[in-house]
Amino acid sequence: MTDQEFVARVKRMGCRLCKRLGHRAEGPSDAHHIRVGVGGAERQHDYLAIPLCKEHHQGKTGIHGSDRGLWRLLKVDELDLLADTIKELSGR
Ligand SMILES: [Zn+2]
Ligand SMILES: [Zn+2]
Repeated sequence: MTDQEFVARVKRMGCRLCKRLGHRAEGPSDAHHIRVGVGGAERQHDYLAIPLCKEHHQGKTGIHGSDRGLWRLLKVDELDLLADTIKELSGR
């Protein structure tokens, strides 16, 4: 599997935050490359991408948004959602 194929596969998955909220989470989603370990304009590995819906990616309550209350409430960060993603990709 190439990096591009992996990202395409992540995008076919449902949003990991919606899933944590108990919502029906179906793709296609955006692939958010987690920011842990990379500075400013540096590019993250494609294998460190998580599927997020438009709202939970670029929206107000999203990972790049200004209102992070939901993330605090659920006590999740992008690493938790990366673990969820890996778990699902492992067929668990
Ligand atoms: Zn979502
Ligand atoms: Zn992103």
